[in-house]
Amino acid sequence: MSSRTLETGKGKEVRIRIPGAVDRIIRTLEEAGFEAFAVGGCVRDTLLGREPEDWDITTSARPEQVKGLFRRTVDTGIRHGTVTVLLDRAGYEVTTYRVDGEYEDGRHPKSVEFTVSLTEDLKRRDFTINAMAYSRKTGIVDEFGGMEDLRRGVIRCVGIPGDRFTEDALRILRAVRFSAQLGFSIEEETLKAVKKIAPNLAHVSKERIQTELTKLLRSPYPEKISLVFETGMAPYVSSHFPEANGAVSHKFSGEKHVRWAALLRNLDGKGAERILKELKLDNDTISRVRTLTEWWSRPIPPEKYELRRAMSAMSEEMFDCLLDFRLAAGTDGPDETERLKELTDEIREAGDCISLKTLAVTGRDLIAAGMEPGRQIGERLEELLDDVLRNPEHNTKEYLLRF
Ligand code: ATP
Ligand code: MG
Repeated sequence: MSSRTLETGKGKEVRIRIPGAVDRIIRTLEEAGFEAFAVGGCVRDTLLGREPEDWDITTSARPEQVKGLFRRTVDTGIRHGTVTVLLDRAGYEVTTYRVDGEYEDGRHPKSVEFTVSLTEDLKRRDFTINAMAYSRKTGIVDEFGGMEDLRRGVIRCVGIPGDRFTEDALRILRAVRFSAQLGFSIEEETLKAVKKIAPNLAHVSKERIQTELTKLLRSPYPEKISLVFETGMAPYVSSHFPEANGAVSHKFSGEKHVRWAALLRNLDGKGAERILKELKLDNDTISRVRTLTEWWSRPIPPEKYELRRAMSAMSEEMFDCLLDFRLAAGTDGPDETERLKELTDEIREAGDCISLKTLAVTGRDLIAAGMEPGRQIGERLEELLDDVLRNPEHNTKEYLLRF
């Protein structure tokens, strides 16, 4: 991502486009005598010409005062000063200026103190590029050189890196995550501190770590995951994480399960699952990653029976995903992939049976034909399916019961 499209100029000269609802919230607060600004990630992303995921607003008004000014609000995190304002069917987090106390092992600090100073609020933020505020009235507020760092493509802590990482060790992983999302480098002193404070990651919750790793892996520069290993963070991510050694690149499609599978592909299904469980990934992702790690390196000859067998082992969607994965991993070359896809299309067009669901006989049919109920029914059905995978024309009740 090029940061060279950055809008230049300072303060009021810089105009960024903010959604109408955000501008209305800010102006409502201003008209009531408070200060208010768009802040953090949304300012950073807009300056870079990226679409922000959400818009956060920071204000001198206390949560109760914010609630008094808007018709529909939700108490999202009153204790931490956050009220969500609902406007135009969207929600905007409005947070009172605050100074953070020590961080606990959650998303929020143990204690927060409200302040009336925007500067204090910006100081508590992690990186210079995340510590800028904007309003139409004031323009860009950039007290820590965030614009310059955006221009130069640098991730740099606000304040003394060692102190900031000691307050909240998740920040060391966020540094790598932002560097992967934006294609930025990590400033030297910040990087030194990342290495030094890496062991503190052991005290951060696995959910928070996983969220950052997933964002990192799904980013435009997923190869930056290597920094997690080079900086010595890996052993503190989770106990088996250091075993993850697959090279990830943008060639792998950006889905969560694909990027995780790329990283874990040199492990067997169990090994991959162990790491994903340690990091509390959801079961759907775990099962998809298992399928990919188990199948990506197996030979799949360009032959319909072999293909039907592979197809019968997973969903249609995962089979398509597997072919793309193998191409990205270099298991199959472009020509081989093309051939496999052609054959796959033919199999689908012909409507060949590839699962027990569409097999012409069921367990009940076998019992009706005189087989004893029990485990052997399942085994028999698998045998019949294998025959049908070889010879799709055999998929009739008549043939299979005779067989
Ligand atoms: P994105 O939403 O794209 O992941 P973001 O910068 O908006 O990126 P959030 O986690 O949504 O990140 O946080 C919003 C803002 O809150 C950040 O830009 C930063 O100013 C501040 N912030 C978030 N987490 C921390 C943290 N652990 N330490 C210090 N400041 C933080
Ligand atoms: Mg955000």
